[in-house]
Amino acid sequence: MTISTEITQRAATLRELINRYNYLYYVADNPEVPDAEYDRLFRELQQLERDNPQLLTADSPTQRVGGEALDKFAEVEHAIPMLSLDNVFDATELTAFDKRVREWLNTDSAQTYAAEPKLDGLAISIRYENGVMVQAATRGDGSRGEDVTVNVRTIKSVPLTLQGENIPAVVEVRGEIFMPKAGFEKLNQSQLANNKKVFVNPRNAAAGSLRQLDSKITAQRPLEIYCYGLGYLEGMERPPSHSTAMQQLQQWGCRISPELKTVTGLDACEDYIQQLGERRDSLPYDIDGVVFKVDDTALQERLGFVSRAPRWAIAYKFPAQEEMTVVEDIEVQVGRTGALTPVARLKPVFVGGVTVSNATLHNEDEIRRKDVRIGDTVIVRRAGDVIPEVVKVIASKRPDTVREFVMPVQCPVCGSDVEREEGEAVSRCSGGLFCGAQRKEAIIHFASRKAMDIDGLGDKLVEQLVDGELIHDPSDLFLLTAEQLASLDRMGQKSAENLVNALQAAKQTRLTRFLFALGIREVGEATARSLAMHYPDLDELMQASAEQLVEIEDVGPIVANHIETFFHQPHNREVIQRLRDVGVNWPLEEQASADSVLSGKTIVLTGTLQTMSRSEAKEKLLALGAKVAGSVSKKTDFVVAGSDAGSKLSKAESLGVSVVGEDTLTAWLTQD
Ligand code: NAD
Repeated sequence: MTISTEITQRAATLRELINRYNYLYYVADNPEVPDAEYDRLFRELQQLERDNPQLLTADSPTQRVGGEALDKFAEVEHAIPMLSLDNVFDATELTAFDKRVREWLNTDSAQTYAAEPKLDGLAISIRYENGVMVQAATRGDGSRGEDVTVNVRTIKSVPLTLQGENIPAVVEVRGEIFMPKAGFEKLNQSQLANNKKVFVNPRNAAAGSLRQLDSKITAQRPLEIYCYGLGYLEGMERPPSHSTAMQQLQQWGCRISPELKTVTGLDACEDYIQQLGERRDSLPYDIDGVVFKVDDTALQERLGFVSRAPRWAIAYKFPAQEEMTVVEDIEVQVGRTGALTPVARLKPVFVGGVTVSNATLHNEDEIRRKDVRIGDTVIVRRAGDVIPEVVKVIASKRPDTVREFVMPVQCPVCGSDVEREEGEAVSRCSGGLFCGAQRKEAIIHFASRKAMDIDGLGDKLVEQLVDGELIHDPSDLFLLTAEQLASLDRMGQKSAENLVNALQAAKQTRLTRFLFALGIREVGEATARSLAMHYPDLDELMQASAEQLVEIEDVGPIVANHIETFFHQPHNREVIQRLRDVGVNWPLEEQASADSVLSGKTIVLTGTLQTMSRSEAKEKLLALGAKVAGSVSKKTDFVVAGSDAGSKLSKAESLGVSVVGEDTLTAWLTQD
């Protein structure tokens, strides 16, 4: 039968693609497409070759192990080939595998399999001679691998000598080298900070870390091993089963997976899959499935292998956590604290067990670093409950029509200016008081104890008020009636009245509190106090430029900019006006007199303070207008002595400088 040109061409295209992806994955440690895409193409080619056996060539990627040994390493010939595994993706395919095994062995009885996680790392073969590690090699093309002995020696969980009894003359221990998730995150953070290559996933990072010419680099990478098999063996009988071989490995000091179990029959296999699948996300390392191996060594030998994989084992693959899809748009979301997060709107794709149509892009720098554009095909990752993210762009699939993302200069929710400080990754909306996205957070802060101190207005209540649209900005709080409040969940008439009274009382405040309550970025209590001291008139403060504001001690250029931008937003100004219109006020003279006690005084702190650190006390004193000095002299006005005060205290006493305790300090700091 002749095969249509279309099919022949498709097979050629698939081979070309798979070979290219193999190269990028195994040799360059830089996969271009997600595994799921690779697996689809691989299976399509397998199917074409099954349907059209004339198409099959010996060099087809379906017939060989995918890797290739790199020239930069010495070559190691494997005494026993290191094979791949065939994959199944669902219960039906697993049943077919089990049926094939039993047919081959000509038996009806349920098979016993050793079940273990399929670790997502790279295969290694470690040769021990008389118990001493002499060589470690990667899988390479299955027959020849790379000599990575010095690198493997740096991995702490790999024993350099085998311990215990029964040590054979030669044994090749086979296992998977992998990078735990936490180590991977840390590595990528430090790579990013040092402007170095960021790895796509832990598997890729493990392979890149092991295949280094400089073993010092490998030594710094958090690599681990789980052993899962024996290769060449000399001077000892091969153990009768996979599970006993694993016990033997453990006795020699090799690390094996604690998840290893033997299961008999298909139901038990499926239970194992389900249980491990449920725990997949909470395991400290990535797994991409379960490996089932016929446990009995004699049966394994009868089953043998075909081209690239043994007949006695199968990999059951879990749903992919990485998939590819198209970025249809990039929009911006405003968070509760005003941070603007760009979000990729995706062509819906099934990944990590759910359909995903949005993925975070974190911030502007991340978009530039990954060079994500609207219209790009990207790899999306969704592992567990973690928010889906765009891992990387598939460069070869970029169409000419892609568009670059531009961060909006105005908040998409409220229209206020968007700020981004130099050296900061995050862009933020500056309409804190007004912005719908930040409303709840802003009002909760406004009412808090150190701000307007509104008794009885808790977070839950604010949420109800905002969700029920009873308030839109903080000024609406003061217009609430007891009737409105009493209609809310868990609010009686009495507590509603109490809250209305508390709100009335809170109107009478201090400028420091009011400024702190506005929630201007990086304006804490101390800065609010400095601002109130220098600008007792709020209108003047609202007009002040950043240049004028940096004149104030304690106000740096960044904070000065935040303050200027905040007061320049028309919406923020309107809310402040509304607050004054509903009666929020502060006495001018009290503010001044409260501050005058310490203004201009020189204070020295010594000994250990119980309620705060010395630097905290210093910051607060500075904000009150005091000078804080490091040594005692005649010019010192007060020495604050904590416990175990030493020479400074004696010096103060000898100079006759007033000495006060922590109680007085606390009284000064809380005087308003
Ligand atoms: P495989 O990863 O599917 O299975 C064989 C490997 O599994 C072994 O070599 C071993 O390293 C590993 N393994 C993990 N735990 C094991 C255990 N408990 N017992 C035995 N082996 C265990 O096969 P492969 O040939 O290494 O790679 C093919 C797979 O690699 C594809 O299915 C695809 O997911 C991925 N791949 C992806 C790309 C890409 O471009 N994204 C390219 C090539 C390969």
